[in-house]
Amino acid sequence: MLGLAGLLGAGSPALAQPLAQGVPFAAPVRYDGQAAVRVENPTAEQLEMLLSLAEEPLQCGLPQPGQPSVWRVRWERLDRLAELGIAAEVVTPDLQRELDIENQRLAGAQLAENADYFADYRTYEQMSLRVNELVDQYPGMASRFSIGTTAGGRDIFGIRIARPGAPADQPAILLNTLIHAREWITGTTGMYIADELLRRYGKEIQATQALDRFHILLIPVLNPDGYVHSWTTDRFWRKNRRNNGDGSFGVDLNRNFGFQWDPPLTASTWPEDMTYRGPAAFSEPETAALRDFVTARPYIRAYFDIHSFSQLIMSPWAYTSTVPPRSAEYAAWNVIMQTGIARREGVLYRAGQLSRILYRTSGSSADWAFGSRGIPAWGYELRSTDSFVLPTSEILPSGREVLQGLLDFADGFERPLLISAGLTPSTPTEALPSAHVVSPGSTTTRLWIDVRPGTGQFQAGSLRAAVRLGRFGEFTPVTLTPESGNASRWWFTLPAMVCGSELFLDITAQTTTGQTVALAAGGPGGLSIRARSASASSTGQTFPCPTCRANFNADEFTNLDDLGDYISAYYEYVNTPPWPIWMDVSGDMELNLDDLGDFITLYYAGQCN
Ligand SMILES: [Zn+2]
Repeated sequence: MLGLAGLLGAGSPALAQPLAQGVPFAAPVRYDGQAAVRVENPTAEQLEMLLSLAEEPLQCGLPQPGQPSVWRVRWERLDRLAELGIAAEVVTPDLQRELDIENQRLAGAQLAENADYFADYRTYEQMSLRVNELVDQYPGMASRFSIGTTAGGRDIFGIRIARPGAPADQPAILLNTLIHAREWITGTTGMYIADELLRRYGKEIQATQALDRFHILLIPVLNPDGYVHSWTTDRFWRKNRRNNGDGSFGVDLNRNFGFQWDPPLTASTWPEDMTYRGPAAFSEPETAALRDFVTARPYIRAYFDIHSFSQLIMSPWAYTSTVPPRSAEYAAWNVIMQTGIARREGVLYRAGQLSRILYRTSGSSADWAFGSRGIPAWGYELRSTDSFVLPTSEILPSGREVLQGLLDFADGFERPLLISAGLTPSTPTEALPSAHVVSPGSTTTRLWIDVRPGTGQFQAGSLRAAVRLGRFGEFTPVTLTPESGNASRWWFTLPAMVCGSELFLDITAQTTTGQTVALAAGGPGGLSIRARSASASSTGQTFPCPTCRANFNADEFTNLDDLGDYISAYYEYVNTPPWPIWMDVSGDMELNLDDLGDFITLYYAGQCN
């Protein structure tokens, strides 16, 4: 539909300077002689010292006492930190060198023909072209939209992803990435989510179910002017590019939304500041466009504003530590997403009310969506714990884990009952002990189950739980113990598991009108727990006892029964899909004879012993 001029925005700077714009060769802002240091648990006094000693904080959120924070510091001042008793870990010794390496790599990536899209970070133009490619590739499911134009004349484009034939007003989940320019990993993560949802629809159960119930609206670059600036001029640019008229540029878009914009909490009223809130609420084309887009679409049911870094899931309110409406649901949703993220790659995100896990802040997008529009909303901080400049090896894992959190959320969102489950501890603001991984042989690991009303009411006494070791066979019912003083929670103790085995959970409850609802975050076979000798950490985990694909029955032995089970399950699938996608050996989301062949080869090659 769109011609080339439409893609680039006729008359925009993009068309006038097609080459200079996206190419990262000429970043004039340099960070020579500077390091990034991480301070684990600073006191208020130490933060004051850091503010005077460091160049600036180098993270999305503002540093707070007791919270880890990352700072940009000149080399000659590093010794001073130690003298003052501030325990700082140098996480990037030479910032400019890191940017030089990134620039060099990106220059190569720009030139590489037919490079895999997710092999590297992508410019504004490349992201725009990729959206068009997806629209061409999936004409019945993907379409391009625009929410407005920036001061720099750039299109704030989006992609709508819906199942074929979905009504225009089907309930929708809205996501935006790159509201803050330098948070590049968010842009690739958003595009990965779009790509995978389109690819998996009709092939994999969770994506299919999610798109059968919701359509997805993704705005990959909410801050195009700032994002382009972060490629061409200053890698660490955060704001948009408003000319403030006093020699300074930029408004912090995530302090500019018109809900609790005033008084400025962690926002600044000084134009040169990183968190400048702007001259008025919704003064910026980007925030006003998002407001108008959301307001015109009452079918938008949930909203995610994706940032980096710090690995956080942040629910309203940001502006007050008062508990928000629907707080019990927020707590359950937070755990569902936290678990989803952790179970994919083993990375732990902290989750909770933003003002409680961090600090109070004004004019944020998520508070506006929830406060003004009543839309359940979150801010995310993605990987890592210390840098905006992430190696390309983080691109796919970040995409996978955030997609998994989103799919698990969609599984449970707006169901008659909201069922969540997890391992101890269960406080939503705390990290899970692991990505649903237990130590082999443990007989003390307990699992909690929460059942809360959704669009229906819980029928007392209707909660059922059963477990199955391995992928085949019957589920065995377990006895649940209600938690005293908490009418929505039950517990049970997991059976001991051998290393490498997997426990599947089947958890259901009924509404007062007789509808049966299964545990959210399930996918085929429901939620599973793995026994592995590993501990989770904020940087992921390794599993010294690998799961054998062939060992379906979790009996520690790979034998002809397992092979027989696989072949039976395969032919069952071929005759009556869907969707035991765990049999997808080659990772292409499809089951075919190649997979079966690969499986048999692996089996006989002894890789599954
Ligand atoms: Zn941010």
